[in-house]
Amino acid sequence: MKCFRILVLPGDGIGPEIMREATKILLAAGKRHCVEFDIVEAAVGGASIDEHGVPLTDEVLRMALDSDAVLLGAVGGPKWESLDYGVRPERALLRLRKELGLFANLRPAKVYSPLVDSSTLKREVVEGVDLIVVRELTGGLYFGTPRGVERLPDGTERGVNTLVYTTPEIERIARVAFDVARKRNKRLTSVDKANVLETTELWRKVVTDVSQYYPDVELSHMYVDNCAMQLVRDPAQFDVIVTENTFGDILSDEAAMLTGSIGMLPSASLGRDSRAMYEPIHGSAPDIAGRDVANPIATILSVAMMLKYSFDMQGASAEIEKAVEVVLEKGYRTPDIYTKGTRRIGCSEMGNIILDELEAVAI
Ligand code: NAD
Repeated sequence: MKCFRILVLPGDGIGPEIMREATKILLAAGKRHCVEFDIVEAAVGGASIDEHGVPLTDEVLRMALDSDAVLLGAVGGPKWESLDYGVRPERALLRLRKELGLFANLRPAKVYSPLVDSSTLKREVVEGVDLIVVRELTGGLYFGTPRGVERLPDGTERGVNTLVYTTPEIERIARVAFDVARKRNKRLTSVDKANVLETTELWRKVVTDVSQYYPDVELSHMYVDNCAMQLVRDPAQFDVIVTENTFGDILSDEAAMLTGSIGMLPSASLGRDSRAMYEPIHGSAPDIAGRDVANPIATILSVAMMLKYSFDMQGASAEIEKAVEVVLEKGYRTPDIYTKGTRRIGCSEMGNIILDELEAVAI
């Protein structure tokens, strides 16, 4: 029997509540497919500050490096907001991303038909949307040098940031994106601004070069301004979008909002040597923590992503997604996605109903 070690970091606020439901689903999926998940749990963020004085201990970092995948809830909250930036809960995420070398951020945006009216866009625009943005996470404008603000002799100031990418950096994110497209509908849109920015001209060239290894994936290129427009005009045209750090930051938030519900959106960050971290895109929601009303679906769908991208368990992943869809079709809703005529339930009940549904799906 295959065995994978998963480091579970519930974190703060609603983190422990949503994680409880997600780990139930992970264990059940493993059992169905004869895979053992050895779950090790540790404190991160504010919980770690309270226990150890730092948001991420060296020991937990080592556990992350030694595990096959990391599943994270969320960190942060008002209790730790007055701390110095260097020891805030969010520092744990930055350190984990850096040490695990997480260079590819995958953010799916799927509109579930029972929730189609939660979007701020018209039903006919968002119906059927099922796309994923692959964002380069460790390069580009956010990390390039030179950077900074300098004072000029005439008393004015000059700010500089540098958009820099090397061929290997573009190649590795392109490969991730092509691999993701292969596991989906085999269409990849590479987004750049090659008509203005030389760096993204190189981006376009390298992505095109990599495409020769993926003849089964259909590659197209789009300028970022057009992509921003297409995402609200006709988002159903996209399957996988790959883009550099800054463009990806903006486009992935735009894409996420097509679905209209933050409690539904998972994410994956993939790194060197098959390292990976999975987490919902939302934060620790301190306003609703401890009341059993949080939506656990984003974290449960993060488990589905883990099975697909870390363990190649496509079937198990699809079963979880299907179970979520059926539960929504049956009208069950946590308060964040509740609409009149549906059935309002809490976090743990949502987890249990998805679990029942998962167990009812035929293998
Ligand atoms: P948030 O995502 O925590 O909450 C925004 C709103 O969405 C709140 O009204 C919240 O109740 C609601 N919400 C979020 N997740 C939900 C869920 N699963 N079910 C139901 N409702 C949900 O963002 P925020 O309020 O800006 O930040 C709160 C804290 O979380 C801050 O300390 C922030 O730094 C931290 N944060 C952490 C992460 C992370 O861990 N990756 C990401 C974003 C924010």
